[in-house]
Amino acid sequence: MDKQQLFDIDVAVRSWFSTLNVTIPRLIEHMETDTKQNRFDLVTNVDRDIQQNFEQFLQHFYPSHQLLAEEKSNQQIDAYHGHVWVMDPIDGTMNLVKQQTDYCVILAYFVDSEPMLSYIYDYPNGILYKAIKGEGAYANDQPLKPPHTMDIKDAILSFNAQVLNLETVKALFDASFSYRIIGSCGLDSMRVIKGQFGAHVNTNPKPWDIGAQFLFASELGLKMTTLDNEPVDFAKGGPFIISNKGCHQQVLDILNDGDGYQK
Ligand code: NAP
Ligand code: CA
Ligand code: CA
Repeated sequence: MDKQQLFDIDVAVRSWFSTLNVTIPRLIEHMETDTKQNRFDLVTNVDRDIQQNFEQFLQHFYPSHQLLAEEKSNQQIDAYHGHVWVMDPIDGTMNLVKQQTDYCVILAYFVDSEPMLSYIYDYPNGILYKAIKGEGAYANDQPLKPPHTMDIKDAILSFNAQVLNLETVKALFDASFSYRIIGSCGLDSMRVIKGQFGAHVNTNPKPWDIGAQFLFASELGLKMTTLDNEPVDFAKGGPFIISNKGCHQQVLDILNDGDGYQK
């Protein structure tokens, strides 16, 4: 795929994102919340409508492209071949419902398994982060710089303490500068990408939670691996860390020490 085609798709997708500035407030005004697998597993009309809206955009402009997304069945998708979009229409749904802030849209475009375009839209703050293969990463068109190298002792770490064993949590607290969790895999990852956090760990993400992070990481020199320091399969998801390169190995060593990180 040549650069111009990629730039043209980027223009079209950014124009789709700009339509959300009208649709999201309207959807929030009439927000309806349902539960999925348990009372903490939430979905709203906002999640469903944004995804349907993007599905219609693809059908209209790029009918041969596939969509792998959270609020649909993905059984027919062959994610490794052709043009594939991976979407989390709202990442941080609990934050949207309970706090009306700290949520984002995650969108990534893969061609034959290679990440080509990535977006994380921090709607409450009006910031569209994007990465273009070979062209770097941007926040509302301002280039992002690779973060400074950070040792674990100077780093804020982000992880879900509910799913790690207590010894591991304590060791991470002791080794790091501090701990913060936003509650949106996309926005926690973005803090790492911007050099605010040292690392973000999620032990159970789905493809849509982490689809965009691959390209931001490769364009800005961050590490993104499984917790065994292997490449992450974008179509499967699974335990992952996105990290400043200065503390990646230090965090993995703590996670894998003793009986491991699982509760
Ligand atoms: P939350 O506020 O519901 O979600 C925090 C972030 O994790 C969001 O990006 C969310 O994506 C994603 N997420 C939601 N369910 C997840 C799951 N089962 N595994 C991995 N990521 C998930 O999180 P919470 O209130 O802290 O926890 C809600 C449930 O999710 C709990 O059962 C928790 O243990 C689990 N969880 C596990 C991890 C992990 O590292 N294994 C991380 C977060 C949450 P959406 O907003 O798109 O759902
Ligand atoms: Ca998510
Ligand atoms: Ca979601």
